[in-house]
This record gives sequence, C-alpha cells and structure tokens, in this order.
Amino acid sequence: MSVITRMPAIFYGHGSPMNAIEDNPYTRTWESFATRFARPKAILAISAHWTTRGTAVTAMAAPKTIHDFGGFPQALFDISYPAPGDPALAARVAHLLAPLPVHLDQQWGLDHGTWSVLIKTYPKADIPVVQLSLDMTQPAAYHFALGQKLAALRDEGVLIVASGNVVHNLGRMDPRSSGFDWAQRFNLAMRTAIASGQFEQVVNYDSLGQDATLSVPTSEHFLPLLYVLGAKTGDEAIEITTEGMELGAISMMSVVIGG
Ligand code: ZN
Repeated sequence: MSVITRMPAIFYGHGSPMNAIEDNPYTRTWESFATRFARPKAILAISAHWTTRGTAVTAMAAPKTIHDFGGFPQALFDISYPAPGDPALAARVAHLLAPLPVHLDQQWGLDHGTWSVLIKTYPKADIPVVQLSLDMTQPAAYHFALGQKLAALRDEGVLIVASGNVVHNLGRMDPRSSGFDWAQRFNLAMRTAIASGQFEQVVNYDSLGQDATLSVPTSEHFLPLLYVLGAKTGDEAIEITTEGMELGAISMMSVVIGG
C-alpha cells in the first residue's frame, strides 16, 4: 500500500494573463512549486473566471483550453493547455459536497485563471485537472465552507488550486501607481489575517468598508482564496509566497497552505 502525502492547497494571485508567457518573480515562484511539492495525482482548480448560478464541476475527459480575454497578443491565444480531465474526481467532488446539487458540466473546460498559472507549475499539462465553478449567488462564508468540505481531497493526492486576486479593480488600474492607499491597506489587512490564521476576518472582508468596496468591487477574484483557506486543517503552515501590487490595483499575493 502506498502512502500518499497530504497535498498543499495553493492560492495563486494570477494577475495579467501575460504571466502565462512572461518570466518574472511571480512566475518563477509558481514554477518552484513543481519541485517543492509532491507530484499530485490530479488538480482541483477554482478559478475567478468561471462564475455560475449553482455549483458545477467539469466532468469531461478532455477539457478544452478557453481563451477568455481580449486585447492580448496572438501568442497568448495560441497557447493550449491540454491537461486531461478526471471524471472520477468530478464525481468525488460532487459526493463530498452532497447534499448540495453539483452539476456535472460537459461544456466549460480550463479557463485562463487555471491554465495561465498551471502552465508555469506543470508545463507538460500531464496532470488531470477538474474545475469547480463559483456560485455567485452565495455569500463569502458559503465558499469558505465548501473549501472545508473539499479538504479531504488533499489526503487523496489531489492538489487544490485557487486562482484570483486579493485586490482586483480593473477600472482603477494605473501604470503610474505602485499601489493605491486603499489597495495597500486592504491587502495588508488580509495579509495579516491570513498569516495569523484569523480566517473569519478574511471571510468578513467587507467589514473593511470603502477599502473593501474599492479592492473587491466584484467578488469573483477574491472568493477563490476562501476555498484554499477553508481547506486548511489543524496547525498547518501558512505561507505568503508572492507579493506585489501591479498597476496600483491588482494584488499578486499568493498563499500556500501546508505542503
Ligand atoms: Zn483574472
């Protein structure tokens, strides 16, 4: 009988899709995960870019690469990330989340929230990937609770990957800014809460008022983080692995739980 190491859970602050084809301190850290952690049997990915009513999981054998962005170089549209799917893992996810109804999806695939970071950690695309959607009708606490239910997968060789940004305000982006005050304050508050394991402060992020409203104008880039925090068990290590504020309004904070 083989012993399976508990896999970490990783939140990637994904930022620009260009990170998929660029080389910078963020992407070098993402690359380092491949040698730092045991090779997973499969990956469950929660991406900011798959928002739904209700919860769905990709259940096809061969998910397509989705180029869900505009205005970027052709080189980005030419990328394919042909990782196989894992219908058995999709069924396992649905089982873990029961009695919540989970739609076994055959239409979606791998969006850039998932492949733009996985292409750095696992460039061969040879590990099966399943995506779980974000039910945007539900509050933050619900997403944290789903992370708790999914934590068991980590003992089954499954790497839980979430991809978004702690601060994400496209309308306020400014190449002259190294970080707006509201973005820096909110990011630091979240960093402090995450690093000290005070996750209820992260779930209740909107208690930070205007700083939260500006940093999280819509919640889809923030909510994936809650799955990774919810998947923490016991006194596991919490590590902030990348940090930075791009264009004044995009936090590149990445977080690793365990591992
Ligand atoms: Zn994004």
